[in-house]
Amino acid sequence: MAYKISDDCVACGTCLSECPAGAISEGDIYKIDPAVCVDCGTCADACPMGAISPAE
Ligand code: SF4
Repeated sequence: MAYKISDDCVACGTCLSECPAGAISEGDIYKIDPAVCVDCGTCADACPMGAISPAE
């Protein structure tokens, strides 16, 4: 399972530097590569918008 970023993302970049796996990429909204994510949850704790959650 990987984490995912919702439409609540405001592309602030906070999560990008927090991810130890380098799974997050920039864009209009940021994305997590599920093949790289190690499911640690660091990004979810860092996101000021609460936009990151475990994928179903
Ligand atoms: Fe990176 Fe961890 Fe977030 Fe996965 S859960 S994108 S490994 S910070």
